[in-house]
Order: sequence, then structure tokens, then C-alpha cells
Amino acid sequence: MVKIDPWQNALKQLGDAAKILKLDPGVHEMLATPKKILTVSLPVRMDDGRIKVFTGYRSQHNDFRGPFKGGIRYHPDVTIEEVKALSMWMTWKCAIVDVPFGGGKGGIICDPKRLSAGEKERLTRRFAYAISEIIGPGKDVPAPDVYTTGKEMAQIMDVYSMMHGQAEPAVITGKPIPIGGSQARNVATGLGVAYCVREAAKKVGLKLKGAKVVIQGYGNAGTFAAEYLEKMGAKIIAVSDSKGSIVNTKGLDSKKVLDYKNKHGSVVGYPGSKKISTEELLTTPCDVLVPAALENQITPQIAKNIDCKIIGEAANGPTTPEADDVLFKNKIMVIPDILANSGGVCISYLEWVQNLQRYYWTFDEVAGKMEHHIVRGFNDTYALSKKHNVDMRKASMVLAVGRVLEAFDARGLWP
Ligand code: NAD
Repeated sequence: MVKIDPWQNALKQLGDAAKILKLDPGVHEMLATPKKILTVSLPVRMDDGRIKVFTGYRSQHNDFRGPFKGGIRYHPDVTIEEVKALSMWMTWKCAIVDVPFGGGKGGIICDPKRLSAGEKERLTRRFAYAISEIIGPGKDVPAPDVYTTGKEMAQIMDVYSMMHGQAEPAVITGKPIPIGGSQARNVATGLGVAYCVREAAKKVGLKLKGAKVVIQGYGNAGTFAAEYLEKMGAKIIAVSDSKGSIVNTKGLDSKKVLDYKNKHGSVVGYPGSKKISTEELLTTPCDVLVPAALENQITPQIAKNIDCKIIGEAANGPTTPEADDVLFKNKIMVIPDILANSGGVCISYLEWVQNLQRYYWTFDEVAGKMEHHIVRGFNDTYALSKKHNVDMRKASMVLAVGRVLEAFDARGLWP
């Protein structure tokens, strides 16, 4: 896999947008610098009695538009550079779909697969305590990310609430429903991808009924993207997971494939399908390709053989910058990750609103409000891509940076 420094990548994307927007150099520098980065040391009592010290970060990139917002990830490869980059991307993501948040991100360097449930909980609670002074419903609202779930969010909410003497669900999103989680949260990313693909199909003149879809990665984002695209009339013809890829050009039943995966541990071996390589999966002739697994999957080498009309990036960073140029030249519409997978952050926003108003909406109400944000974000991005004759990724950055600047102009620089 190609290794790209995420922070340099984030700075380059900002630089490209700055050129198009003819950004003032001082303002550019301000946006290229996170407002605050907190590094915390986390001593944890391990099950064998030892004390082990972990390192955690919270990067708060920008809050011109509202409280910082972004997930917390647990991974051995977490670095401060990665957390900074992810926090900047959250600023743009929230601006694109016009939710009133800025961007933040957190992470702990740890291998969650080698922690017991008790160790993980003690680590989570210690981290919640360590960052408690900089988070809060009006300050910074974290959420789940890689290897964190509703369980950790509930523990963080509990620590924060105990410290403040009252239940405070709005301090974090992605919580279980009994403590203020939102309907539709589990399907959010996949459903958002499906909405974006539907809008893109209108623009490129593709009928979704019968359109062929290939999905790389059959996890949370991939399965719900498959399910909702199927409901919109599309036909899933190839899918993959970490064990391999399968194809059946006559169509795969998304639900049955998921049942098969849950029973056998992989999509590979699904009756009637043929096993293919990752490269074959990505270059299978289709109408819509949804990368929903890992970053840097679509390299220039792969891109030049991709045969589809729309790529809906459910995964974060699945396409390398050089591959973007190849796809743009080949007139393939790429719906960039910060737009395509923003369903999660839209529903996080709606969860926060429900928590603040202490009143909860139904699945359809939440999904309908999320659709409004995503469709508008898609259409605004598309209009800018036509106006500046750039790909959707650059256009989404122009939209995002422009919206953050509007907020900056309105608030001004103090003192
Ligand atoms: P997940 O863990 O539920 O699923 C990931 C899937 O990818 C699994 O089926 C796994 O087997 C598969 N996979 C792993 N390595 C693979 C490989 N080499 N080839 C093919 N498949 C492989 O994760 P998820 O939550 O669905 O996230 C997937 C991507 O979407 C990530 O990039 C994530 O950052 C992004 N994303 C997810 C959400 C969300 O709400 N779930 C939100 C925004 C972005």
C-alpha cells in the first residue's frame, strides 16, 4: 500500500483550494495551523497489576463555525500528524454539509485488540478525564472512529457527566440509544453515500435502476451503501472484504451476502459468485464503484483501468492525489470522501441537537434531515466544480474553505 503523510496531504489540499480562492497568505497560514493540540499521558492499571502509560491526543483544528467535532480513534499507528490531518478534514467536512461545527480529532496510541475490556474501559475513562477541560457540548463534541464504539462514547459521557454533576449527553455523539443516541446512526454513512450516488447519477445521466455497483469493503459503510443503493434500484455485482473479493455480473443480493459473511466470516465463497483479485474488483466494468475499506486503494495504475461513471468514496482517502488526475481526465465523477461519507457527521449533528433540546426524532425524521444536508452539500460542490472546471474533491475544498472564511469574516479577528 502507498504510504502518504496525511498531514502533508491535508496541507496540499488546502493549498490547492487557497490558490483557487486567492486566499490571503495570513489567513492561509491560520487555516493550516490547528488552534490547539492537547497531548495527554494516560497511566492505566493493567489486569496483571502493572501500570502502563499510553499517549493520547486531541487536535482542535478550527471552530469558526461552531464547536470542534470529530472522532476518537484507538490504533497503534496513531500519530500527532495523523490526528492533526483528520481534525482539519473534519473542519471541511462539517462546512461542506453545513452543520454548525468546526473540526477536531482525537486518538490514543494503543493496540485495542490486545486490551481486555477492563483495560480498555480504564484507558477510555482516563482519556475522558484528561481531555475533559477542553471538551463539552458547546466546546468540542467527540464521536467514535476506528476501534471505538458506542460503548466507549457511553463511558466518556459518564465520566464527563460525573465530573459536572448532571447527565450531559450532548458532550459526545455516537452513543447508544438509551442514553441519547440517535435513530439512523448505524446506517448513516452508507445511506449518505447512497444519497450522493443518486444525486451524481442525475448529473451524469445514469439511471440507477439496473445500474451496476461494485463495493470494496463489506463492513458498516459498505453494507448499508449496498442495501440503500439496491433499494434505489441498483444491482450489486461485486463486493470484497479483507479475505478477498467476489463477483457475479447477474447480481448479488446484498442482504444474503451479509448473512453469508456473518455466518462464514467472509463474503468469499458466497454461492454463485467467482473469487477475483482486489485489482480485478476495482477495475470490474460497472456504473458505480464504492471504495468502503481502506485508504490509498485507487492508485494511478488502478485508476487508468477503472471502468465506471461514478466513484462514491465511503472510505476515507481511498484515492491517491495522482489517481484523482487520471480519473478526472477519464471523466469519472469522484464524490470525495469528505462529502460522500459525511452522513455520519450529519447524524452526529442531529444527535447533538436532539440531546440539547431533550426531544427525539424518528428514523424517518432523522434520515430526512440528513438527506437535506447531504443533497445540498452535493449540489453546492457540483456547482463549484463546474464553475472552476475542477474535480469534485477540489470543488468540495473550495466550498468548505469558503464557508469557513465566511464565518471568519463575520466574527473577525480578536483583538
Ligand atoms: P468496518 O470495519 O465496519 O468495515 C471495513 C470493511 O473493510 C470490512 O468488511 C473489512 O473486512 C474490509 N476490508 C479490510 N481490509 C480490506 C481489504 N484489503 N480489501 C477489501 N476489504 C477490506 O469499517 P467501516 O466503518 O465500514 O469503515 C470503512 C471505511 O469507511 C473506513 O475508511 C472508514 O474510515 C470510512 N468511514 C466510515 C464511517 C462509518 O460511520 N462507519 C464514517 C466515515 C468514514
